[in-house]
Amino acid sequence: MRTGTETDRPVEELKKINKVFGTEFLGISFRGKKDMCLLALEKMSDANYDEVSYFCSKNKKRCPYYINLQNERFTDVKTMLYSEVLRQSAERRICPYFYQRELASLANLVSVSYNYILDEKVSWSLRSIFDYSESYLVVDEAHNLQFSFTNINSNHITTGSIKRALSELSFFKKTEQVKNFLVKLEEKMWEELGKKIEKEVKIEDFCSSKNSDVLDEIKLPGENLRSERLSKDERPHSSLYHIYSFFKISLELSKEKGVTHFLSKEKNELKLERVDMRASEALKEKWKMFRGCFSCLVL
Ligand code: SF4
Repeated sequence: MRTGTETDRPVEELKKINKVFGTEFLGISFRGKKDMCLLALEKMSDANYDEVSYFCSKNKKRCPYYINLQNERFTDVKTMLYSEVLRQSAERRICPYFYQRELASLANLVSVSYNYILDEKVSWSLRSIFDYSESYLVVDEAHNLQFSFTNINSNHITTGSIKRALSELSFFKKTEQVKNFLVKLEEKMWEELGKKIEKEVKIEDFCSSKNSDVLDEIKLPGENLRSERLSKDERPHSSLYHIYSFFKISLELSKEKGVTHFLSKEKNELKLERVDMRASEALKEKWKMFRGCFSCLVL
């Protein structure tokens, strides 16, 4: 399914099929931790997927919902929408995200958004639940796949992110090297774009493998800030960490055909963007992982 909200439709239809034909197929609509983490919903409802994922990785062992889930028995399972899994979990005080993973391992139908197939950061979590080579993949509105792949796998930083990263540095000592890198990065962005509105650029002109030391130096305070914010029940966001991860992935992909970088001006900010257009090659590999694939197209 293209979006999370659309994942309910096949499950609603399965419920009707079970009712009409008296069958007992089990199906669920599967959501990410952003929607399914009760602890994060209590403490930081505005956090994004990456932040909730990070939040869970730091809290899972002592999370009361996760601990309660370990004592649950999975009898009486039935076809449920994600909102029903969430409600039932809240009533039983168990973790909805890990509960739905248990349900998915038993299900005949698991309905997910495109991310779970197209984004490596999250698709591994589904692969660890059931065997793709024994499963059939049905892609609804498959004409949207190419656009969604590019959307999910592209990323950007702005001159605004650089300014926020510079202000984050004020919390740390011995940051001269990082500060110089960030100041020069912003200067380079303005100089490179000149009077143009948009241009294709080489990422190595902004940060090359020679800068790996400075990238490590950006990562450390970025991680520290995320942990510190988390310990205060704040969103674990850090612009330093965002800039580090943007360059790390961009440099890894810099020689890949189909990955391009653009510099553009939007209002008073400049945007340095990585655009990943390798959809056809990536999708070809994805299809091979399943026992069979069906695409539904709107013509
Ligand atoms: S175990 Fe579940 S409820 Fe606890 S932090 Fe992780 S996702 Fe949230």
